[in-house]
Amino acid sequence: MSRRFLSIGECMVELSQAGDGLLRKGFAGDTFNTAWYARACLAADWSVDYFTALGDDAMSEEMLAFIDKSGIGTSLIRRIRGRTPGLYMINLKDGERSFSYWRDSSAARSLAADPDRLREAVESAAVIYFSGITLAILPHEDAETLLAEVRRAKAAGKLVVFDPNIRPRLWSSYDVMHTTISEGARSSVIVMPSFDDEAAHFGDDSIEATIHRYRTLGAVDIVVKNGADGVRLNFAGEETFVPAEKVKKVVDTTSAGDSFNGAFLARYLETSDAPAAARFAAKVAARVVSEHGALVAKEKLGLDRG
Ligand code: ADP
Repeated sequence: MSRRFLSIGECMVELSQAGDGLLRKGFAGDTFNTAWYARACLAADWSVDYFTALGDDAMSEEMLAFIDKSGIGTSLIRRIRGRTPGLYMINLKDGERSFSYWRDSSAARSLAADPDRLREAVESAAVIYFSGITLAILPHEDAETLLAEVRRAKAAGKLVVFDPNIRPRLWSSYDVMHTTISEGARSSVIVMPSFDDEAAHFGDDSIEATIHRYRTLGAVDIVVKNGADGVRLNFAGEETFVPAEKVKKVVDTTSAGDSFNGAFLARYLETSDAPAAARFAAKVAARVVSEHGALVAKEKLGLDRG
């Protein structure tokens, strides 16, 4: 089988405060962040590709060049004339961060509107990664197309991985959100939820309840992330707890979960040892929360010591 890791979703333009009212431009988005960390941690004989849709404006070109420079493949990306990427801004007030989004008409919302292209991309990969955010931004029919495609990939023996990444504001209703996220999990092999989201939006009263719910839906393996309280793994029915690494000073928790997922999958693909992969990913995520920004450079991840 090919050694291609395919991540599907939306990468946005990120504007953050640079002082004196100036804004710094970057690029980020949950599934792209995970691709970034998978790329940093996977051996060179793996390719990591991003699947999304972009427009034909200068910002789309710049994002494409950035993804390419990150060592992540761009050849599968759909281009749509006249469209633009989504954008978000990180606001900082009295040390508290809040986010403003402009993504309602982003090109990425049409990423699954060309089913043949989507199928070709999925068929070319051994690992397919997507999230609840990927599903949330798609028109209902396109979310069904994507789900059918990943179900097909799972049936073909590919490793389909799903992070529910629950964001109620992106969904038209709680009902649609619950049904579609459950369908995402059912269509996947590995599900990687964050317990605080699952407790808040599915009403789970324990990590065991989250594991039970996703297992009952049909997920094979489950990794429940719980911030500084570590992760609980349920792989092939076997349960393990892996603690988080101690962090001297938490600077910015942006993309903690995304980096954990990328690092975990990279190591798991090489070793098939889920607890060891989780210990490695906890080290990487600890480095990520100790630095500013969603995308921490490979050199700062301490991979040699990992
Ligand atoms: P998400 O960002 O999806 O909410 P979590 O907050 O559960 O995910 O964090 C993901 C991983 O990041 C954790 O499993 C842990 O390894 C690491 N992490 C997050 N917060 C901390 C922290 N305060 N100290 C150490 N590690 C952390």
